[in-house]
Amino acid sequence: MTQIKIDKEKCVGCGTCVETCPVNLYAMDGDKAAFVGDVDDCLICRACEAACPAAAIEVIE
Ligand code: SF4
Ligand code: SF4
Repeated sequence: MTQIKIDKEKCVGCGTCVETCPVNLYAMDGDKAAFVGDVDDCLICRACEAACPAAAIEVIE
């Protein structure tokens, strides 16, 4: 099963993941990113992982 991990310690709150995910699975929760969608909707495109400047996102299959 797919898992999305956001390392909140590393997250710099840039919002790139929110803008990048094609199926809108991220939102900002204050100054940190949060995974707010249904993991079953994830396309495993890894765009979020690639775009995060802080390497805070891990997409695990
Ligand atoms: S792209 Fe990375 S650093 Fe930016 S808000 Fe998302 S998780 Fe945080
Ligand atoms: S892997 Fe793709 S679809 Fe899944 S959360 Fe990241 S950007 Fe969104």
